Amino acid sequence: MRLADEAQDQSWQEYANCLGVDPDLFFPERGASTREAKEVCRGCVVREDCLEYALGNSEKFGIWGGMSERERRRIRRQRALARQAAMQVTASEGTATA
Ligand code: SF4
Repeated sequence: MRLADEAQDQSWQEYANCLGVDPDLFFPERGASTREAKEVCRGCVVREDCLEYALGNSEKFGIWGGMSERERRRIRRQRALARQAAMQVTASEGTATA
């Protein structure tokens, strides 16, 4: 469990499945298996909160919300593309009505 000291609501951490689990499991050496950590996350009721926290805070290392750094990078890219597409639609709607 990774506790941070930001002011945002982190009460979800109280329900984390990884409370009491060795934190090293969630920060494996490069190339090491992430399977065990992901197994812990699989049954975690705050998995979405954890993932969103990691995405929102640009956590670069470790398993958060059952996802590796690479998997989170992919989500960030997908969201950025979706935001871009939405802005283009909004912009084109603006020009259509102008
Ligand atoms: S999703 Fe995984 S890392 Fe996040 S709180 Fe739950 S068990 Fe811990």
